[in-house]
Amino acid sequence: MLRSALLAASRSSQVRTVVEKFPPTHAIVERFVAGEKLDDAVTACDDLVATGRKVTLDHLGEDTQDATQAAGTAEAYEHLLAALKDTGLAAGAEVSVKLSAVGQFLPVDGEKIALENARRICEAAAAAGTTVTLDMEDHTTTDSTLSIARELRADFPWLGVVLQAYLRRTEADCREFSGAGSRVRLCKGAYKEPESVAFQGKREVDLAYVRALKILMAGEGYPMIASHDPHMIKIADQLAQWNGRKRDSYEYQMLYGIRPEEQLRLAGEGNTMRVYLPYGQEWYGYFMRRLAERPANLTFFLRAMATRG
Ligand SMILES: Cc1cc2nc3c(=O)[nH]c(=O)nc-3n(C[C@H](O)[C@H](O)[C@H](O)COP(=O)(O)OP(=O)(O)OC[C@H]3O[C@@H](n4cnc5c(N)ncnc54)[C@H](O)[C@@H]3O)c2cc1C
Repeated sequence: MLRSALLAASRSSQVRTVVEKFPPTHAIVERFVAGEKLDDAVTACDDLVATGRKVTLDHLGEDTQDATQAAGTAEAYEHLLAALKDTGLAAGAEVSVKLSAVGQFLPVDGEKIALENARRICEAAAAAGTTVTLDMEDHTTTDSTLSIARELRADFPWLGVVLQAYLRRTEADCREFSGAGSRVRLCKGAYKEPESVAFQGKREVDLAYVRALKILMAGEGYPMIASHDPHMIKIADQLAQWNGRKRDSYEYQMLYGIRPEEQLRLAGEGNTMRVYLPYGQEWYGYFMRRLAERPANLTFFLRAMATRG
């Protein structure tokens, strides 16, 4: 119930206005977001890389309805990738891109514009010597996102895709995307989805995650295990051993600000541990999805509201 309400609020412009104007929100947002500016992102990225972790940077934004803004987001990624190259961080840091931020939802030629903008970002990544992963958004975008990914992979075979275990279709998608060299981030899924397309309960989603992970780990691709769940991490470790995988043939991923000690433990044991690092002004949707995932985060937020003034 609570999760559904928060996920619905993540797409409400009225709630957005209230939450964004509320001063204590900003202190809490800082836990999950590197800052608003490119320099903030580069500094946070540098700090993470210095501790043996890798990074995937997300220039925050989604659901763009404006072609100029979509092109502006592609340009922001070009600046980011140039900065990663100039600071020598590109070997340890890639970028994550939401296609809805680069035009996928535009009423005219949305998919075509998103493909062109994503191609610009991939070209900038190739020039910097790093890679791109396409984030996955709600289920209405899955076919379009995977079709854009297939097209881009013809020129950029290193392009990463994200599959969401809660979707009923995902086992089949895992089979398609588990070929040689295929970089696939497996997450549970963060959006509010109907029962017709997605498993609803935690146990069902966890079981689906394990089924999908089995396929990816037995395949020839490069699985990216994106979860904070200790059970999923343990199972991934076992599956890697059963499939005779070397440590450089898969990686763990977690979100910035979540379970940092566990991130350091995994990196310290010789695993590739990548942190998803968001930055920028458009933090609202990302922040609300994090609140929806974890009641403890919400309690912290409500306590700050109650003690206001
Ligand atoms: C790198 C990365 C990229 C992602 N990209 C996408 C994407 O493109 N599309 C998408 O839909 N979703 C994405 N997600 C979000 C994902 O789908 C989940 O919503 C999110 O990761 C929560 O699921 P979980 O696997 O961590 O486990 P949950 O089921 O949320 O939690 C399981 C257990 O993990 C531990 N845990 C979880 N959160 C915390 C916390 N804050 N502090 C301490 N322990 C905690 C607890 O032990 C908890 O019981 C991404 C997640 C990551 C890590």
